[in-house]
Amino acid sequence: MTSDAEPRRILVVDELQEIHDSFRRIFADQNENKAILFDFETKFLESEEDQQPVFKVGEKTIVYELDHAKSGEQACDLVNLSIQNKRPYSVAFVDMHMPPGMDGTETTEALWEIDQNLHVVICTAYSDHAWEHVLDRLGHNDRLLLLKKPFESDEAKQLALALSEKHRIASIQERKVFDLGREVERRRRAEETMRDMAHRDALTQLPNRPYLLEKLTQIVQGQNKDKSPQHAVLFLDLDHFKTINDSLGHDAGDDLLNQVAARLKECVREQDTTGRACEEGETVRLGGDEFVVLLEFLEDPQDALTVAHRIVKRISEPFSLAGRLVNVGTSVGIAYIDDRVSDAHEALRNADTAMYRAKNSGRGQFAVFDQTMHEDIVARLELENQLRRAVETKDFQLNYQPIVNLTSGTIQGVEVLVRWTADSGRIVSPAQFIPLVEELGLISQLGEWVLEEAMNEMTELMKEHEIDDVYLGVNVSQLQLSDPFFLDHLERIIQRNGFDRSLLKIEMNESGNVRSAEQILRTLLELHDSGVGIQIDDFGKGQSSLTCFQTYPIEAVKIDRSFTASIATDHSHAVIARAIVQLAHHLNAKIVAEGVESANQLESLRMWGCDAAQGFLFSPPLTKKSLGRLLQDPLQSEGVRMLRRATRNAFVI
Ligand code: C2E
Ligand code: CA
Ligand code: CA
Repeated sequence: MTSDAEPRRILVVDELQEIHDSFRRIFADQNENKAILFDFETKFLESEEDQQPVFKVGEKTIVYELDHAKSGEQACDLVNLSIQNKRPYSVAFVDMHMPPGMDGTETTEALWEIDQNLHVVICTAYSDHAWEHVLDRLGHNDRLLLLKKPFESDEAKQLALALSEKHRIASIQERKVFDLGREVERRRRAEETMRDMAHRDALTQLPNRPYLLEKLTQIVQGQNKDKSPQHAVLFLDLDHFKTINDSLGHDAGDDLLNQVAARLKECVREQDTTGRACEEGETVRLGGDEFVVLLEFLEDPQDALTVAHRIVKRISEPFSLAGRLVNVGTSVGIAYIDDRVSDAHEALRNADTAMYRAKNSGRGQFAVFDQTMHEDIVARLELENQLRRAVETKDFQLNYQPIVNLTSGTIQGVEVLVRWTADSGRIVSPAQFIPLVEELGLISQLGEWVLEEAMNEMTELMKEHEIDDVYLGVNVSQLQLSDPFFLDHLERIIQRNGFDRSLLKIEMNESGNVRSAEQILRTLLELHDSGVGIQIDDFGKGQSSLTCFQTYPIEAVKIDRSFTASIATDHSHAVIARAIVQLAHHLNAKIVAEGVESANQLESLRMWGCDAAQGFLFSPPLTKKSLGRLLQDPLQSEGVRMLRRATRNAFVI
């Protein structure tokens, strides 16, 4: 940068040596004077450091460096050199009349060709050229001054000082503007990089959620209300992603996400069936295993379905991960952006909703959002809120369903079944709300309440009717059993109610997440050791398998009501039921049949040696009060009467 300390370069252009000599004298003098001044100041101020210099810094350090050219051509060479060396001249004193070469005007023109910032003082005898003529030629210019010969040395000095100062300030300014420009550019680029990073997913390099929301906002705002939907959001996530991550490791998970990203990009790049390219498709990773494909400017809304179909098909093809082939699969939700969509979030939410619908209708499907889906979701949210409140205020009731011994015809136990009445007055089935409570993470809370309340009511009931051998079956979700505090809490509940633990039976169904299987098994073993009975619920429904006999310390198996319903009509089920009874007996487990509704069913079960049964034939689930009455007089039950008659006949025979 040009500083005060740098010499100011002056070029004198004149064909006469004496002119050069006189310039040399003028400026040598000047330099000397400044040097003397500077010297004096330094000495004078040495002892008083705080004091400001008496003379302006700008003046005191100015040093001139003179160069000499005998002609315009030579001047051009020197100015060229000065530019190359990045040490430009501040001022050139150019004589107007320099025979035989270029005159002052031509020289000035030539010099400005080389250095536009050069200040030029044209020295002319009055008679040489008219000033107007010079200005005509060179234009009105603030870098041009006229010095009429003969001139005083002070005039030259003043001109040199003023013009070189002007040159200095101009070049400082120019540098600053340049630096500023560079800084602005640097920041613009940094901002661009940051913006790009903020809008890009680090793993797959796909655009991310903030990007998508911005884009959707633009689309929603620019939506043409009169036209049919032109844009569609396709929402998808991967089936089994968590399992793959957990079993094959996170590197394999990352690999999978990258492969999926690549396939999705392919799917939107491909030609559609008519050969038209769906170039507008853009793939976005929302996070986790969730992706969005945005289709803009669809010519036909049906094209979105074509792409969705293509995606489902492509993702269902096996992936090569960690050296093995893995099947993944996806479901796609499609939401069009039409005039009912008010913002980006809604567009995305609609597609998400549609995806859940697609998933629920089986894997590898796609579904298009419609308003009823939204209403379903709102209803579900409302139900969730009510359930949350109910769990908090313990606003549930208990019913008890008797379990009858098929040999003695007595009520050997009861199963407690929880009941909930929604705000609408509708009684919601536990088959419906228990999974919701599980999803809300409140099942342990509800389960503990059921255990506490049921033990409390049963203790009262048994005292009242002087009964001491009816057991209490309680449904316990696998999520509860995988809760490490389950046993502690159960123990406290048993203690508080003084309940006989041998009369407590835990009914556990086999479905559920396999990940906490070890914790569940530990809990079951401890329960068994402490004297609590373990029963497998819902046997024969869906996932149950015979391996449970080996895995768990089982006291009884409950045959699911769907299975019971078919034994009287479906021969193969009858054969299986019989085999299960034999196997269970072989392993010292009892068999309880649920959902017994008819005499035929009862008859078959008895024939195969089933131990106990429960169902509408005996009694529906009852309130505590009705159960009390039934315990007092079991013959109120049609099933019990039937059974007693049958056993009496058996004895008679
Ligand atoms: P589950 O353990 O299989 O309970 C038996 C279900 O069969 C009960 O339905 C009962 O009302 C019904 N049932 C009884 N006899 C008959 C019959 O003869 N025919 C027919 N068709 N059905 C009969 P509910 O009360 O709706 O309970 C449904 C499920 O909710 C239960 O199935 C159980 O898995 C769960 N559940 C109920 N209470 C609780 C609870 O306190 N905790 C947990 N975790 N789950 C519960
Ligand atoms: Ca049960
Ligand atoms: Ca069942």
